[in-house]
Amino acid sequence: PETKLPRVGTTIFTQMSALAQAHQAINLSQGFPDFDGPEALLARVDHYIRQGANQYAPMSGVPSLCAAIAAKVERCYGRTVDAAAEVTVTSGATEALFAAISAVVRPGDEVIVFDPAYDSYDPAITLNGGHAVHLQLAPPSFAIDWDAVARAITPQTRMIILNTPHNPTGETLTAADMQALSELVAGSDILLLADEVYEHIVFDGAEHQSINRYPALAERSFVVSSFGKTYHTTGWKIGYCVAPAPLTAELRKIHQYLTFSTSTPMQLALADYLNADPEHDQVLPAFYQAKRDRFNAHMADSRFSFTPAAGTYFQVMDYSAISDLPDTEFVLWLIEHAGVAAIPLSVFCQQPPEMKLVRFCFAKNEITLDQAAERLCKI
Ligand code: PMP
Ligand code: GLN
Repeated sequence: PETKLPRVGTTIFTQMSALAQAHQAINLSQGFPDFDGPEALLARVDHYIRQGANQYAPMSGVPSLCAAIAAKVERCYGRTVDAAAEVTVTSGATEALFAAISAVVRPGDEVIVFDPAYDSYDPAITLNGGHAVHLQLAPPSFAIDWDAVARAITPQTRMIILNTPHNPTGETLTAADMQALSELVAGSDILLLADEVYEHIVFDGAEHQSINRYPALAERSFVVSSFGKTYHTTGWKIGYCVAPAPLTAELRKIHQYLTFSTSTPMQLALADYLNADPEHDQVLPAFYQAKRDRFNAHMADSRFSFTPAAGTYFQVMDYSAISDLPDTEFVLWLIEHAGVAAIPLSVFCQQPPEMKLVRFCFAKNEITLDQAAERLCKI
């Protein structure tokens, strides 16, 4: 019989990181920092482990962390949420996304996703019997065509998945996008799933367009984020979902049987750190913008062309002046000839358009970025 996910193989991130290691290339493919989170945060984990906080956390999350998340959402976006009924701590954003989709998507439901789309959405929709309706965003701007979205909506449309700042393109949604979205869903029962894991990595003074800012959207939304991105701790796999109480209740029915709960000492440590250093979120844009600008300044001497990323820690670059190879072959060529690993964009598209684009992760120390750029300037 056909397997449940016949089109799914090993993720591109695992593939490229393995190839990078095999070739001892500089790994700018899979997105993770090559530096640690704040020392005070790491010390709190150690503290709680030594204190014996090593047993199951409450199913919905450690109360102090849920409260710290609610305070953060209020501080950053002016939305008041009930920490006990509307916040759920999950094992990374990955689990929150899967649980949210599983909580509401039924067989035959349609879910609109925008390509290039982060790779975990489609399998979650498929496993729940849903049908992912892929709308291709057109390069180079990758802006959403809201008229096309309106045309794609049918009586079966259950959910729209948004991702801003956007992986892999580095683009961000604008206030005009949020206005168009608001008009589109008003009066319907379409739900929204907002993947905002890069919420604190937005550049050039722009404001992150969180669903949390828009009450009429928030009341129909699961808003997902991840501490991995904000605190340089992708290996901890702690994320969360904010949603109105009725949606949260459904999400928790899934969460309690997927994982039940997630790491206790890390949740306690994050709660302390969020409360002790609320400024961290505010300094993160400048921290990553300096890395983006350093990498891009070097890359200006290369044959790649690019527009600086508006958000995330990814920079997309066009290699059409260098090679005619399709992107999935170009990244292999690049590992061998430049010793740098990147991610091809076409793998995130159901029907890839004509484009010659790869994604570089700049969440790296300056020396890593300088060495990578130097190699990339030689090809
Ligand atoms: N969504 C997007 C857009 C991501 O880039 C990532 C992380 N790479 C995730 C979700 C998953 O986050 P986590 O590692 O917290 O599971
Ligand atoms: N989200 C990370 C990226 O975009 C990868 C996460 C993973 O490897 N699953 O690179």
